[in-house]
Amino acid sequence: MAGNRQSRKKFENAKIHLDNLQGICWWCKSTADSLEHRHKKTDLNRFTRDGIQPEWVGNGKSEIIRGPNSKSEAVRFGRVLCQTCNNKRSQDFDKAYDKFSNALVESMDSWWHRDSVDLIHIYGTTWKQDSLNLARYYIKNFGCLMADLGISPPQTMRDFLNGSEAMDNVALLLVKSESHYLAHRYLLQTLGDNYSLFRTPSTVWTSSEDKRVIGYTSSSLIGYVGVQILWHPACNYPNFTTCSSSPPLHVLETTNKSRILIAKAAVRSKFAKFSSFFSS
Ligand SMILES: [Zn+2]
Repeated sequence: MAGNRQSRKKFENAKIHLDNLQGICWWCKSTADSLEHRHKKTDLNRFTRDGIQPEWVGNGKSEIIRGPNSKSEAVRFGRVLCQTCNNKRSQDFDKAYDKFSNALVESMDSWWHRDSVDLIHIYGTTWKQDSLNLARYYIKNFGCLMADLGISPPQTMRDFLNGSEAMDNVALLLVKSESHYLAHRYLLQTLGDNYSLFRTPSTVWTSSEDKRVIGYTSSSLIGYVGVQILWHPACNYPNFTTCSSSPPLHVLETTNKSRILIAKAAVRSKFAKFSSFFSS
């Protein structure tokens, strides 16, 4: 969990108030006895099906992952979820996510040129329920990420997992990241394929009085497409589940500095050394 450790250190240095949420399931509050995957096992399986051992990279470090069942902290969250919530209660969420993930990978090269995601194409007539289950998969996953960092997920996220169809001040947006798309173009040249897994850095908003976290954002991407969570007291974005059967695919724009860094990395062929990789 080098990524989380690094983020936690960054937040501690900024004197942001964090809680120790290890050992308690953030969803149901019972004892947390599960080590939930940071990235879904089916996503990790894509890397390992040809006998390849993926490489985790982040914070200037890297680690070879010996398989999707690895207990490495680069692969698993800490103890922030119980087995019942991780398995039984979220089976339908996981199934909806697997369909979405496969659809992203199948059309990986073309998402950049699309403005929306056709949920009926992915789920058929059950798209409404399945897109809610998809959103709940992401809320479960982002909630684990936050709890692992020491950030208490707001109650509205639990309510959403328990069946509510709306959240206060929390939105999930479908996104495509420009910087990851630029990297994707280079990865295609060197790998011929790309279903790398990424998370954008965790960013928080805090109260001025006591530095408690009152907002959070991060994104989970396959290749360059995925979902962003946005929690903020003034958040008025609609959840993608409430838009239509074709919710918008928002662009996460990059900076000129990032464009130059990506081009330089490609020139130095740094991407070529990875057979496949992911970050957490
Ligand atoms: Zn639980």
